[in-house]
Amino acid sequence: MTEGNFYNPEIEDMDRSELDALVDDRIRYTVNYAAENSLFYKKWFRENDIKPSDIRSHEDLLELPIISGKTIRENQPPEKHDFGFRTLDWDDIFTVHETSGTSGTPKSFFLTWDDWERFAEKYARSFVSQGFRKDDRVIVCASYGMNVGANTMTLAARNIGMTMIPEGKCTFPIRIMDAYRPTSIVASIFKLIRLAKRMQNQNMDPADSSIEKLIIGGESFAEEARRYVSEIWDCEVYNTYGSTEGTMCGECVDISGLHVPEDLVHLDVYDPRMDKFVNDGECGRTVLTTLLPVGAKSGNVLINYDTEDTTVVLSRDKCNCGRTHMKILNPQREAETFWVSDTPFNRVDIEKGVFQRDNMEYLTGEYEAFLYGGDDEGETTLRVSMECSDMEKCEQELIKENFLHSFFQYKKGLEDSYIDGSLNILFNYERPGDLEFYRIKGRPKRIVDRR
Ligand SMILES: [Zn+2]
Repeated sequence: MTEGNFYNPEIEDMDRSELDALVDDRIRYTVNYAAENSLFYKKWFRENDIKPSDIRSHEDLLELPIISGKTIRENQPPEKHDFGFRTLDWDDIFTVHETSGTSGTPKSFFLTWDDWERFAEKYARSFVSQGFRKDDRVIVCASYGMNVGANTMTLAARNIGMTMIPEGKCTFPIRIMDAYRPTSIVASIFKLIRLAKRMQNQNMDPADSSIEKLIIGGESFAEEARRYVSEIWDCEVYNTYGSTEGTMCGECVDISGLHVPEDLVHLDVYDPRMDKFVNDGECGRTVLTTLLPVGAKSGNVLINYDTEDTTVVLSRDKCNCGRTHMKILNPQREAETFWVSDTPFNRVDIEKGVFQRDNMEYLTGEYEAFLYGGDDEGETTLRVSMECSDMEKCEQELIKENFLHSFFQYKKGLEDSYIDGSLNILFNYERPGDLEFYRIKGRPKRIVDRR
């Protein structure tokens, strides 16, 4: 273990009681700051007859409204004449960001240089917790631009003293691997699988490359998919979870959940009705609150921001790595959860079925799934398409059996429906490059609900 190896030891191994007190201090300061500086909160406190000073601790956040991406969009141009969540004048704003919303106007975020520094600190802590040091050389396959992730990681690298290779995309020429002998890559699961394939095609084995560890950024995935990437690259694969809203959580070398930088972002987990917190260990909706150090300023403050992701608080005890900050389960996107016969399943459940180890002798890992309504009421068809490395050698029956075994493991309701015929599951096998999502620009949509 790397006990004693922290980016900011004073904060990262702070006693639980001290940390909780610090969080409550910062909640009081941040709520007050929002009430004084944000048009949205100024108006809200006035109209709801609650005084900012009534909010004393994190429990009191239950008194404040839960805001969502929709709330932000409704409180900015063109809906309103000004940005309701911006908390500083233009003089103090360093950069403006927009999240690529799936519908309507993108949400706007305003960052000061201090906001950038705080974001970078979160990534720096996470990198150090994963064993990164100043002699590391890291290829970043996340895009630089309106998303803050890649830029923030690069700024974090300056703090640690390591070298970044800001490729932005994962389609860089393979000679980069030889020329700079990178020690790590930040990318998604699928980019890392495709890169490995390109290397193999040029007679380079990823397992023998200079890569010592890999970082997955910004998506949920099945553990089976991570294990596969870890196997083909022969190294540890760490997960990070970050967003323009300022989350930035990361797994440490213990790989037992993502540490939340509790002094800089407060994370609550809500029940489905969004009116109370769930207990640690129970799954619920992730709701974030920006935390500012007392006296600090920020371009943007979000209180009770609904991320539309679900997670579980795994632990608030001291981790094997020595950190005391809480750990959460890899968040899943609520928008990627689908209901069939009163049973929910997520994209990750499909991915898990695809990435069953024995399947990977025949599959590339690329997949897509479609949901259709049936002829009879209450009937649903799930069609899963998987890409085979070699159609002639693809053991279709075996893949199907492995998939179903995994898919039904924790989904008794789905298995019952499958047996009684109200859920049909069809399997479709494609040649490399023939899945439908290849024909559509942008990030592949892995599940499409056509019901
Ligand atoms: Zn840890």
